[in-house]
Amino acid sequence: MDGPALSPPPAADKDIGAWMHALAAELYPICRSLTGAGVRRTLGRVAAEIPLTLHEVPSGTPVLDWAVPKEWTIRGARIETLDGRRLVDLRDHALHVLNYSGPVDAVVSRADLAAHVHTLPQQPDLIPYRTAYYAETWGFCLPHRLWEEMTDPEYRVVIDSTLAPGHLTYGELHIPGETGDDILLSVHVCHPQLANDNLSGLAVATALVKRVLETPGRRLGLRLLLLPATIGAITWLARNAEAAARIRHGLTLSCVGDPGPVHYKHSRRETADIDRAMAHLLRHAGVEHGLLPFSPYGYDERQYCSPGYDLPVGCFMRGVHGTFPEYHTSADNLDFITPAALDQSYRLLAQLLDLLDADVTYVRRDGRGEPQLGRRGLYRQIAGQKEQGRSGGGLDQMAVLWVLNLADGRHSLLDMAERAGLPFATLKAAADACLAADLIIPAGTAG
Ligand code: ZN
Repeated sequence: MDGPALSPPPAADKDIGAWMHALAAELYPICRSLTGAGVRRTLGRVAAEIPLTLHEVPSGTPVLDWAVPKEWTIRGARIETLDGRRLVDLRDHALHVLNYSGPVDAVVSRADLAAHVHTLPQQPDLIPYRTAYYAETWGFCLPHRLWEEMTDPEYRVVIDSTLAPGHLTYGELHIPGETGDDILLSVHVCHPQLANDNLSGLAVATALVKRVLETPGRRLGLRLLLLPATIGAITWLARNAEAAARIRHGLTLSCVGDPGPVHYKHSRRETADIDRAMAHLLRHAGVEHGLLPFSPYGYDERQYCSPGYDLPVGCFMRGVHGTFPEYHTSADNLDFITPAALDQSYRLLAQLLDLLDADVTYVRRDGRGEPQLGRRGLYRQIAGQKEQGRSGGGLDQMAVLWVLNLADGRHSLLDMAERAGLPFATLKAAADACLAADLIIPAGTAG
């Protein structure tokens, strides 16, 4: 599964796949929505792992062209026969209630109920995920097979919910870097009982933040946003123009726990460093993957990439939204996401964060021409490669020559790796050796 270029796991990361799956499992039953107690509880649990700040933005607050919606509180939802037999119950599955449904407590005919029931005739055993964010209605989601068996003339329906002024809640964490520039990781947290679609991304992002916190002294900062889709990202952008301007690279994470191949959707810029870095990494990692062009659809990358912002933010995913049969159904459950897939997503993204942090531009310190490597001990390190093999820590001769040739203040390490057709890590090792031999220095630093 893992390709040869994937770095060995840090010791502390050994069981990270199982750890992430367990975190997702804990959060799985919570009935989340755009706003409300479910999101708060979810973010509160994450805040027990990493120092996440919860922001509360009042309903009605204007945010760009939108306004923060009313807060939704759901206490229960059920369909009963008139003799009190409970057929559908929110306590059995959070998908049973139409998300953002208004309240109802009535006896209705089957015909009237039909207009408020959502099923999947093509997948009759699954419960669909449906929302009614900006429509004032009520409704239930249930397996089509169950609905077909419901032949009574009347049913009692109860949805105990409130839609009232309150707050939109989102989570934010900023780990400053040395340069003042940041990498953004953004995950939506508004989906209820679905595992791959938002809990997998939340688990992987939390694990990545833990890792960054354990490896301080980074060049680039990291900003994590856990927010309700669309309105959350719009709210953050409206309130954080300065922080948004410091985002040098960014990713939304979604559906990163299914066993399918990895996909990367480019940023609107298509050739931003994040786009090139991700494509480079996937090409050399030896994992099955697909690269997708930008489109103004999908997840919150479309907000970060909207006019007036146009941030270099792509989307990292495995299953592509809307294309796999489990998508937005009760089959997107804890069996659909695997520790192995979460682990692989985590490792690829950890490598990406390291790559972006190490993607420095160098200049030669020693002037013109090709330097004499033997005198500086570099030739011995290269020669050692043949005896020891790569694992012996030997340098790749071509990588050293490319570094020394392109360290002109205009080529970053990623540029060099692309030009050389070698993995970034190989160029990085060569650059580190050249740096130690005092042959190159980071561009912009006083020589
Ligand atoms: Zn979704």
